Amino acid sequence: MTLTVDVPEAAARLEDATADDVLAWARATVPRLAVTSSFGADSAALLSVVARVDPTIPVLFIDTGLHFAETLAYRRALVERLGLRDVRDLRPVLGVGAQARQEGGGLYLRDPDRCCLLRKIAPLDAALADFDGWATGVRREQTLDRAGTPVVSLARRGDRDLVKVAPLARWTAADVERHLKREGLPRHPLADAGYPSIGCAPCTSAVRGDGAPREGRWLGSAKTECGIHLEYPEQP
Ligand code: SF4
Repeated sequence: MTLTVDVPEAAARLEDATADDVLAWARATVPRLAVTSSFGADSAALLSVVARVDPTIPVLFIDTGLHFAETLAYRRALVERLGLRDVRDLRPVLGVGAQARQEGGGLYLRDPDRCCLLRKIAPLDAALADFDGWATGVRREQTLDRAGTPVVSLARRGDRDLVKVAPLARWTAADVERHLKREGLPRHPLADAGYPSIGCAPCTSAVRGDGAPREGRWLGSAKTECGIHLEYPEQP
C-alpha cells in the first residue's frame, strides 16, 4: 500500500518525543507495523514500550538456530512477563545442518557477511514484505554506524521503502539501565555475566569491564553489524 508520511517532518517533530509517543505515532500512522527484537541484553526496554502502547503489535524474532539457550529461555519469560500477544519466529530457509552441507561448515568464521545474509537478513526481508513499517531498539550511542540513526526514516527493503522508527534512538546505556530497574524488568541471564550485547552464540563473546558494549560481537573481525540496520537512505 502507498503511505503518505512526511518522514523529515515526522523525524524533526518526534526527535525529543518519548519512546512511547514515537511508537504510538507509528502505530497510528503505519497500518501494518512490526517490531523487531533480538531478545538480547537491552531488548526489554523497547518491548516494555510495545506492551504499554499495544501488545498486539507483531514482534519479529530472527531465530537463526544459533542463539544461546539463555536467549530462547529469556524470550519465553519476557513475552510472558510483558503479555506480548503476537511474537513471530523468523527462520532461515536452510537449517543449520543444511547450510553447512551447502556452504561448508563454519561459514560464520569464513564469511560472516554471507552467514548473516542467509540467517538474518533474508528471513527478515521475507517477513517485512507483509509490513509497511518497523520499529527497532537501535540506539545512537551503540556504534559509529548507528550514531546518525533518525527517530523516523525510510528504509529500503528490496524494491520497497518502509517507515522505520527508532523510539530509543536518543537513549544511553544508563537510560536503559534506569528503565529496566524502574519497571522491574528481568535481565537477559548473560547480561550480568559480561555480555552487554548478545547475538548468535558463535559470534558473541564476553567483554572486559572497560570494553565497548558491542566489542564482543564478531570479536577479532572488522564486522560490527549483521546488516539489517545498515540502510538509512533518507535522513532528515
Ligand atoms: S551473527 Fe554469526 S552465526 Fe549469526 S548469522 Fe551472523 S555470522 Fe552467522
